[in-house]
Amino acid sequence: MDPKPLHPESIAAQALGHVDERTRAIIPPIHVSSTYLRDPDNQYRSGRVYARADNPAFDAAEAVIAALEGGHQAMLFSSGMAAATACFQALSPGDHVLAPKVMYWSLRNWLMGFATQWGLQVELIDMHEPAVLRAALKPGRTKLVWVETPANPLWTVTDIEDAARAAHAAGARLAVDSTVATPLLTRPLALGADVVMHAATKYLNGHSDLIAGALVTREDDDYWQTLRRVRAQLGGTLGSFEAWLLQRGLRTLHLRVRAACESAMTIATHFAANHARVAEVLYPGLPGFAGHEVAKRQMQGGFGGMLSIRVRGGSKDGAEGGEAAAIATAANVRLWKRATSLGGTESLIEHRASVEGAGTPAPADLLRLSVGIEHVDDLIADLEQALARARG
Ligand SMILES: *Cc1c(COP(=O)(O)O)cnc(C)c1O
Repeated sequence: MDPKPLHPESIAAQALGHVDERTRAIIPPIHVSSTYLRDPDNQYRSGRVYARADNPAFDAAEAVIAALEGGHQAMLFSSGMAAATACFQALSPGDHVLAPKVMYWSLRNWLMGFATQWGLQVELIDMHEPAVLRAALKPGRTKLVWVETPANPLWTVTDIEDAARAAHAAGARLAVDSTVATPLLTRPLALGADVVMHAATKYLNGHSDLIAGALVTREDDDYWQTLRRVRAQLGGTLGSFEAWLLQRGLRTLHLRVRAACESAMTIATHFAANHARVAEVLYPGLPGFAGHEVAKRQMQGGFGGMLSIRVRGGSKDGAEGGEAAAIATAANVRLWKRATSLGGTESLIEHRASVEGAGTPAPADLLRLSVGIEHVDDLIADLEQALARARG
């Protein structure tokens, strides 16, 4: 009888417990070779030829990510964007794809720019509305439905199980950008998704010291083989050192995510309770939040470490006063770091509309918060003083 499957904590902490057979080292070495020896009989018995296509430096992190997601296999990429764009570049010009109106900004820009010029029929919809998705699907023509949940920067929640049902009924695949949820809180493949994407730059690595991406597949199908070719041919391959750092960062994923979730919930609750300087808190864990019921069903053990607050203006009312107050609040923080990105040990704050620019769905008074693993009282106290001094 097989032993009971390990909990995610045990998978992550030991990176699946692999021991190097030759040296008995319990931590994998860093493989840096760009090429592999061909056997005298002209064969490649190691199965590896050239490191743009594949690299043993990826094995540990890929195995851990695949195990955490409950997938067949994972593939590392040189960035989250390289992983995400591969999912679309594996399609053909003329194919119809659906993506959310509110989503990670750089990917949205790429879809509306490069991907559209290249011939993909890209349609952005209110993905979190089941009826809108069903109406937008074109059976036989829609090849891919892209979901991000919770989605930047409003933390819009989409029901993965329902989206998978709808996509599959129309003959489309479902891919989920699960960067914010992490494999600890949501397992999209078990809910019916075909592919999961992570910006491993964020929680999976967790230390703000590398750029990486990952895809995980439910099964080894034609699409996955095409994705392998896309990585090998376009060369969005991760470096050996980054892959090694990533397997190290993954070992504490569960501790970091748990701490971030607990603090995010505390911060959201604190500022949602009739705060004089905060007009609204956007967080899937708040009972009044639009996607809360779906989030409760598909997120286990927490609602993530990301939230946004909308700052109330001082003398001037409305979004205009709010924008100035939001920018001033970000300027006033001492402990939070004013920076983009998310999922690191340090808490980050950013005025999202300034990052996204024209056409952004982010309200002008919105601050995006990535909650790290500092003491939550210090984080709240710093935001309080920053908000108080931002009074216009
Ligand atoms: C950061 C991020 C990406 C892109 O990842 P990079 O590693 O920066 O290329 C994609 N989706 C989400 C949700 C992200 O936060």
